[in-house]
Amino acid sequence: MTAQPFELARRLKGLPPYLFAKLDELKRAEMAKGVDVIALGVGDPDEPTPKNILEAMHQAVDRPVNHQYPSYEGMPRFREAVARWYRTRFGVTLDPAGEVLSLIGSKEGIGHIPLAFVNPGEVVLVPDPGYPVYEISTLLAGGEPHYMPLTRENDFLPDLQAISQEVRERSRLMFLNYPNNPTAATAPREFFEAAVRFARDNGIIVCHDAAYTEMYFDGKRPRSFLEVDGAREVGVEFHSLSKTYNMTGWRVGFVVGAAPVVQGLGKIKTNVDSGIFQAIQEAGIEAMTGDQSAVARMRTLYQERRDTLVAGLRAAGLHCDSPEATFYVWVDVPEGYTSASFSEFLLTRAGIAATPGNGFGQAGEGYIRFALTVPRQRLAEAAERIRKALSR
Ligand SMILES: *Cc1c(COP(=O)(O)O)cnc(C)c1O
Repeated sequence: MTAQPFELARRLKGLPPYLFAKLDELKRAEMAKGVDVIALGVGDPDEPTPKNILEAMHQAVDRPVNHQYPSYEGMPRFREAVARWYRTRFGVTLDPAGEVLSLIGSKEGIGHIPLAFVNPGEVVLVPDPGYPVYEISTLLAGGEPHYMPLTRENDFLPDLQAISQEVRERSRLMFLNYPNNPTAATAPREFFEAAVRFARDNGIIVCHDAAYTEMYFDGKRPRSFLEVDGAREVGVEFHSLSKTYNMTGWRVGFVVGAAPVVQGLGKIKTNVDSGIFQAIQEAGIEAMTGDQSAVARMRTLYQERRDTLVAGLRAAGLHCDSPEATFYVWVDVPEGYTSASFSEFLLTRAGIAATPGNGFGQAGEGYIRFALTVPRQRLAEAAERIRKALSR
C-alpha cells in the first residue's frame, strides 16, 4: 500500500494533542454571543515597543546595507551588545565571537537545540509543567522527554535526586526555566549550583530559558544561570527581547554560554535559516544599550497589576502565591474542579479566558494560569466577576 499523499509524517502525528482547542472554540462561541471576554490566557505584553527602539528600526530600514542577507550568527555589534548587557546586568563576561548567537526569538533556538545534541531514543529532562516547546522539540528530534514534576512542596523546582541512574545515563539535555512559566517561581542560587553539579556528574547539557529575568517585583532581581560557578562549562542560557522590551512580534533573541553548545546549535541554524533581518538587530542593539527606563516602568505596571489580581482572587476565595517575577499568576483551582472544568467555568460563567494548568503538563493539573497582560481595571473586573460567579 502506498501512503496517502497528504499523510503527515510519524514525527508530526506523534506529537501530543493541542489541549486548548476546545477552550479556544468555547472562547470564540462566548465572544460571538457578545460576551466581553477578558483575555488572561496568552502571555503577550499589551504595551507597545518603546519609542527609542522604533526610532532605531525606522532609521535602519532606510539603509540598503540592511536589505541583504544578514550573517548567520548575528552582527558583531549585536553580539557585543548582548555581551555588554550580560556584564552590566549579571556580571557575566561572555566572548561575543564564540559564546553568543542570535536567534529568531528564543523559541527558535529552544525548538532546534535537540536536533544538534539528541539522538533518537536519548532522553531530554523536561520540567512539568513547562513551556510546551521543550517537550515538542525533543519529540521532533526523536528524543524521549523525561518529565521532572514541579510541585508546590518543592517550591516548583525539580527534584534532581529523584531522577534514576538509568535515566541519567540516557540523558543529553536538561531544560530549566526561571523565573518560571507557568508557575511564576524563581530559583535560588543553591538550586542552580545543584543543577551544575548534576549536569557535570552526569554529562548533561543544561539549557536554561531566562525569558523572564527582567520581569521581577519588589526589587528582587532574578539571577542568570551563568552567574553560578561552573555553569558556562555545562550549559547555555536562552534569552529574548520579547518580554523585556515588549518585542514579541519582532522575533529576536539569543543564546549564550558554553561555546561547543552555541556552535552546535549554530550548525543546525546555518542549514535551516539565514539569520535575523539586520534592521531588527539594530533595533535590538538600541533596546539593550539605550535608555532602560521603559523596562523599569513595565515592572512597576506589572507589579501593580499583580497586586490587584492577587488581592482580588483572594477576596474571591481562591488560593495563590503572589509571584516575585514573570507576568503570570499560578492559581489553585477550587475544590470540586479540575484545571479544564474550572477554565470552562470561568469562560462560560464569568467571561474570562485563562489557561488550564494541565495544558503545560500533567503536574499542572489542579492549577490555572492568569496572565497580567491587560490593564489593571480589567484585572479588578475579572476578579470581581470570579467572586460573583463562585458565590452563586
Ligand atoms: C515567551 C517565552 C519564550 C519565547 O520567547 P520568544 O523569544 O518570543 O520566542 C520562551 N520561553 C518561555 C518560557 C516563554 O514564556
